[in-house]
Amino acid sequence: MKAMVLHAPGQPLHMEERPDPVPGPGEIRLRVEACAVCRTDLHVVDGELPDPHVPIIPGHEIVGRVAAIGPGVSGLQVGQRVGIPWLGHTCGVCPYCLEGRENLCDRPLFNGYTRDGGFATAVIADARYAFPLGEAGTDESLAPLLCAGLIGWRSLVMAGEGQNLGLYGFGAAAHIIAQVAKWQGRSVFAFTRPGDVATQAFARQLGAVWAGGSDEAPPEPLHAAIIFAVVGDLVPLALRAVRKGGRVVCAGIHMSDIPSFPYRLLWEERQVVSVANLTRQDGLDFLALAPQVGIVTQTTRYPLRQANQALADLRAGRFEGAAVLVP
Ligand SMILES: [Zn+2]
Ligand SMILES: [Zn+2]
Repeated sequence: MKAMVLHAPGQPLHMEERPDPVPGPGEIRLRVEACAVCRTDLHVVDGELPDPHVPIIPGHEIVGRVAAIGPGVSGLQVGQRVGIPWLGHTCGVCPYCLEGRENLCDRPLFNGYTRDGGFATAVIADARYAFPLGEAGTDESLAPLLCAGLIGWRSLVMAGEGQNLGLYGFGAAAHIIAQVAKWQGRSVFAFTRPGDVATQAFARQLGAVWAGGSDEAPPEPLHAAIIFAVVGDLVPLALRAVRKGGRVVCAGIHMSDIPSFPYRLLWEERQVVSVANLTRQDGLDFLALAPQVGIVTQTTRYPLRQANQALADLRAGRFEGAAVLVP
């Protein structure tokens, strides 16, 4: 197999050749067909998340075909197409797992962070955390659903059912969730970097009723806002934009510091919450919903060996939608 490997945070990934790994009990090996690039991969590569298991192969929005099946795996067949998300393993016995909140497991493993991920031609996955994908849709178009879509979906559920929904940061996740929210009959208000008229036009094209800079006030108060951007300064801005009782959902795994703000922005039962990881049920729910919504992902394709370029382009905001690596 070939893989793009991170040896230390802050360094570029290196293309390496390795023997094809053999799946252990409960595991499968996939031939990777496509792997989308997530903001979280940037956080891993840039050293913004603690203790990555280096050397590590990043990547956690994996579409692949089952190539080998380890002992004790049932329900999957060689050749079947499956998706592998960020959540790679949970312990099953901690209080969170027992409460049905495995996204908060005390001893989890995450693909592309604490176990090897999909910036490669092959990957080993825990079979219980693989989602059958069926045959509809291309590998490249489905890959961004595995994190941008899934975490976006969990964030949307967390935001509640209000009509006016603000999305701060209109990248891979927002471009998917805007389509879901519109399909649900909601009004989407898209906030981008001030002056980013190209992304604002992209948001309107996907059905946003309004798009503007994050420094602007929406034309109507919002029932809820989801912050996908990694900018803590957006928290007080979003609180200012939501109506009484409104909720601000922070969807990212990492964010710059939130500046202090006057209590009156939180007053009147406004809430600030965060979303962490996903449960397998989130994945099943969202992947069943996606074909009904008819989600169309916008992707930019890179060969696997250009993973560093894809990461650099994501960091610089040089494309709309999602970057996808193909072996
Ligand atoms: Zn657990
Ligand atoms: Zn991700």
